[in-house]
Amino acid sequence: MNVLSAEFVKSASEPDGYPPPGAPEIAFCGRSNVGKSSCLNALAKRHALARVSRTPGRTRLINFFDLRVCEPTRSGNRGREHAVRFVDLPGYGYAAGPKAEKESWGGMIERFLTGREPLRALVVLVDGDLGPQDSDGQMIDWARSLPARLIVVATKLDKIARTRRGQRLENIAGRLKLSPETVLGFSAKELLGIDELWRAVVGAAEAGE
Ligand code: GDP
Repeated sequence: MNVLSAEFVKSASEPDGYPPPGAPEIAFCGRSNVGKSSCLNALAKRHALARVSRTPGRTRLINFFDLRVCEPTRSGNRGREHAVRFVDLPGYGYAAGPKAEKESWGGMIERFLTGREPLRALVVLVDGDLGPQDSDGQMIDWARSLPARLIVVATKLDKIARTRRGQRLENIAGRLKLSPETVLGFSAKELLGIDELWRAVVGAAEAGE
């Protein structure tokens, strides 16, 4: 996918702070350190996109980005254009964090995921090297009841030998009780899986239009 523009919109914690509905939204979540910023930067082809989400004061907030992309064509002409809004949700799995903080995090995420009309898909990133953790399983089990599509991305696949990657993805899908095609392999380091994830994102964004 060719990225025409990628811009930070705003940060918010509560519904009255969300931007007014615009393009179809795709939310991204995962445990801290799973590779979410690297994945967003790789998708947006902007090294600093998710850096915004990391600036002090924004790491625990919901960050919205607007992207315009177009499909590459053989002729070099501009292909079909798509507008999509990425929603970067704060990382979970602060096992050592204070209970009150975990509860406020949960409330913020739940309000967004259950109440946001333009939301079309939730991308849950799991560490493809470490395998799914309890918090990933809980997030995915909870997300099954959402109307949004569920896309699971196994990150850092470069850490797994090429010959074992297919088996690893099947294993992750099995442990999460998902069909194998729901789990997409990804590596920001090897730029692996970017087109496939874009296809899933655009497909979800435009479903039902
Ligand atoms: P976030 O906390 O989920 O936003 O994760 P980051 O994108 O900041 O990445 C966390 C750590 O994992 C950093 O040290 C990254 O360099 C590393 N990382 C992220 N993506 C990849 C990847 O595709 N391959 C490898 N080997 N390391 C990665």
